[in-house]
Amino acid sequence: MTRKLEDSYQHKGMRKQLVQQLRDKGITDENVLSAINNIPRHYFLDSAFDKIAYEDRAFPIGEGQTISQPYTVAYQSQLLNVKPSEKVLEIGTGSVYQASVLAEMGARVFTIERQKKLYDKHKDFVFRAKYPNIKFFYGDGFEGLPAYAPFDKVIITAAAPFIPPKLIDQMKTGGLMVIPVDSDGAQRMLRITKLPDGSLSEEAFDLFSFVPMLQGKNE
Ligand code: SAH
Repeated sequence: MTRKLEDSYQHKGMRKQLVQQLRDKGITDENVLSAINNIPRHYFLDSAFDKIAYEDRAFPIGEGQTISQPYTVAYQSQLLNVKPSEKVLEIGTGSVYQASVLAEMGARVFTIERQKKLYDKHKDFVFRAKYPNIKFFYGDGFEGLPAYAPFDKVIITAAAPFIPPKLIDQMKTGGLMVIPVDSDGAQRMLRITKLPDGSLSEEAFDLFSFVPMLQGKNE
């Protein structure tokens, strides 16, 4: 990337306003809010979005995919209740923004992307040195990462047609999964807890709109 990156006074000001909007919308986890306040979201977008990068909206990132809306990132991160050094599996690397928020909160993030072109962009990821705790994988999120399991937390950032059974298998006992599952044209945010007897408890939250979680890899 040849683009000159600058986190200006204006960008910082817009980011503070975004954090206030997230508070107004009900986000209360201070660790999530401070991670969002610390991460220049405009670095994750094409320079054409520089002035609007702190609007609470999703934006295109190429290959028909989007960077999630900040409210959605904050909402999922809050439900995930991440603690420092926990192992988190993320499905849908996309722009790496969500992964960066989790890494900023101290998690060890294992993120999978199925689109080769988006996966390849991680080589130019601006915060590679700052977040050595993010590991990138090219693959099908429905398969997870059995070689790195078990995970404390699993976060799916695409619209899941169902709860992927292999990802449940890769969770620790007591672990959590935050997943938007298709429900009448939108997605219901669910939080699944794996109980000591191996059974699952499910909590249902608000409706969201995600790009689809697709089977298999894309060259
Ligand atoms: N977390 C991302 C959101 C990206 S949108 C961010 O912060 O920017 C969802 C992403 O999930 C897309 O990049 C899409 O290609 C990817 N995706 C969809 N189905 C997938 C699957 N089965 N495995 C891995 N990634 C998948």
